Amino acid sequence: MSGDGLLSALGSWIPRWRRLTDDERSACQGIVGDPDLDELIVVFTPLPRYWGASATTLWRWVLTDPRREGDVGWCELMAHEAVHVEQWRDRGILGFGVWYLDSYLRSRLAGKGHWDAYEEVPAEAEARERAARHFR
Ligand SMILES: [Zn+2]
Repeated sequence: MSGDGLLSALGSWIPRWRRLTDDERSACQGIVGDPDLDELIVVFTPLPRYWGASATTLWRWVLTDPRREGDVGWCELMAHEAVHVEQWRDRGILGFGVWYLDSYLRSRLAGKGHWDAYEEVPAEAEARERAARHFR
């Protein structure tokens, strides 16, 4: 690996974060209330790659693979994650965690695979449906 390659590989591990840009905010307007769009912080980190996700929302922090920034579907991804920010706020950290894991673990115990169990989590179904409806 060259010096530049090493620097760039290390660089992707140094998280950077920002609020939604004005364009991203406009694209997400109406899907959740303005306070949730104000609260949302995009954190660029390769971490979600390790569990096969494009992004993962923890409270108001949306951990996002930096390679996804500006991709086709980027604004829909942010809208999906903005719904999760609203869900976390509505239910609280414990309430959201129990709501999410209860469904996921029941599906897994019923013998479903990770992705099927994930798809059936009500939080995911709601975020997927609201983001898709907003962008189609
Ligand atoms: Zn989701």
